[in-house]
Amino acid sequence: MGLLEGKKALVMGVGNKRSIAWGIAAAFQREGADLAFSYPNDRLKENVVELVNTLPEPTNIPVLRCDVAKQEEVDALFAAIGERWGMLDVLVHSIAYAAVEDLKGRFHEISRDGLKVAIDVSAYSLIAIARGALPLFEKAGGGSVMSLTFNAVERVVPSYNSMAMAKAVLESSTRYLAADLGPQNIRVNSISAGPLKTLAGSAVKGISAARDLMESKSPLRRNITQEEVGNVAVFLASDWSRCVTGETIFADNGFNILGVTD
Ligand code: NAD
Repeated sequence: MGLLEGKKALVMGVGNKRSIAWGIAAAFQREGADLAFSYPNDRLKENVVELVNTLPEPTNIPVLRCDVAKQEEVDALFAAIGERWGMLDVLVHSIAYAAVEDLKGRFHEISRDGLKVAIDVSAYSLIAIARGALPLFEKAGGGSVMSLTFNAVERVVPSYNSMAMAKAVLESSTRYLAADLGPQNIRVNSISAGPLKTLAGSAVKGISAARDLMESKSPLRRNITQEEVGNVAVFLASDWSRCVTGETIFADNGFNILGVTD
């Protein structure tokens, strides 16, 4: 019997097969969860539908539109999940966006509007979807929410600029949501993953150098995989983590513990 047997999980942020969200979905599927997916626009819908068709019984898997910057689409998403399932156990936020021009250059030149968009899409969205899912979690007797972050919050990472600010808001929101929703048995955590060559990852200059550094210097002397992040997500979705909330859990082969590297 899988660790997530009988659990209903909505995975947001699959863009293509390299997406971290797809690694999470594959691990959830392996552990017996019922899955639903969202996509932000028609261009990405095709990718998500194509991937879902590789899973067993794809016609039973809801694939729903939701651009998280649009409140009406967030509302419609959870109304549709409510109609389909009547409850929800697990919510995965694997979403980030920042304009490319705010991911390069000097930090003090970040634009006001660019920072607003990065924080809105990449961080406020966590609050919006947790609120949307709340009635469905209550029906389930609790829930587990998780998001993906990167350790450009406590450390300075070149070119991360506006996304670092958005991740700081995301991590802080994780703690505030955990405190707010805990009495309803809803847990909220974030996975701080090491660098992976995804679409979002490649938008940040220097992803290859970051992976080389992780391989040569991290305590475990290797890079992380999508599957490994998926397994951490399984832990957070499962009852094995029932006493864990408000945490940022590092899935980075220990890289974050280093002060200087030799
Ligand atoms: P990805 O490009 O595959 O995923 C990002 C997703 O965000 C895409 O599927 C896209 O559809 C979605 N998205 C963007 N704007 C949206 C909107 N308005 N509404 C709804 N969805 C929207 O890249 P990824 O690396 O899998 O990124 C997933 C998460 O992991 C992000 O939060 C990212 O910051 C985080 N992360 C990535 C890395 C890395 O190195 N790749 C490391 C740590 C954390």
